[in-house]
Amino acid sequence: MNLQIINEKLNRYLSSDSGNHITSEQALTPEMTGLRIYDEPLVGIASADDPLFSKMKDPEAIGPHFMCPEEWMPEAKSVISVFLPYSGHIKRANAASASDVAVEWLHGRVEGQEVLLKTGEYLKSLLIEAGYNAVIPFLDDNFHHVESHDEGYTSNWSERHVAYICGLGTFGLSKSLITEAGSAGRLVSIITDHVLPVTPRKYTELYQYCTFCGACIKRCPAQAISMEYGKKHEPCGDFVHHKRTDYPDHYGCGKCQTGVPCESKIPSKKE
Ligand code: SF4
Ligand code: SF4
Repeated sequence: MNLQIINEKLNRYLSSDSGNHITSEQALTPEMTGLRIYDEPLVGIASADDPLFSKMKDPEAIGPHFMCPEEWMPEAKSVISVFLPYSGHIKRANAASASDVAVEWLHGRVEGQEVLLKTGEYLKSLLIEAGYNAVIPFLDDNFHHVESHDEGYTSNWSERHVAYICGLGTFGLSKSLITEAGSAGRLVSIITDHVLPVTPRKYTELYQYCTFCGACIKRCPAQAISMEYGKKHEPCGDFVHHKRTDYPDHYGCGKCQTGVPCESKIPSKKE
């Protein structure tokens, strides 16, 4: 298996019966039926012994609770990170309004989470069929995360930091990961004992792709982002999970990832 094969298989998977289109049973409004959730994925690969993984244990990075690949799987050789960009339809709908969260985005957030995890499971099954072992940290019993005002917002495996190490992109002021397909999308990763070719990182700085244009500050309805502090998790988490929508089982926001220069590409310094 190599990067090209993984890309081809994931593309085919997301174009087929993977749940990547909203069914009439799922649709919050009749017009949502058939909505495509994700476009073509981006895949990056890091060596499991990349020294940046152990640097994540520094208190100024994630902290000592971060688990390196070999702590999830002692025989780990590679880490694969997958970025699933939201479809143009979802991004345009959420960009169109300054405050209301688009119904399309709610589908992307909720049904998109199921597709994201199924995509990870699919990749895991490909590796296992090919004779390798694989672990999806987010779905593993050892995965631990906290999201509370008292304990903070952290986890022992950060998809965005892992994607950075895997060559997919850099952080933005809004703490989204800015990839070559932009920041509006979701991430999942998998650890395997398969030795795979590493994706070169085209950057050296954590925030290299962000222009600090401030557009995400203006888009945030919760005033959670500032030039001084970046994103504060508490007001964001409160808004995303507790803002009342017309649909009790659906939540989301994504204003800082849509209608901004880094929505669908690495922004130009001139924007
Ligand atoms: S909108 Fe501008 S400041 Fe905010 S993350 Fe994107 S590029 Fe950076
Ligand atoms: S998701 Fe919404 S509330 Fe959270 S930082 Fe982005 S714009 Fe603000």
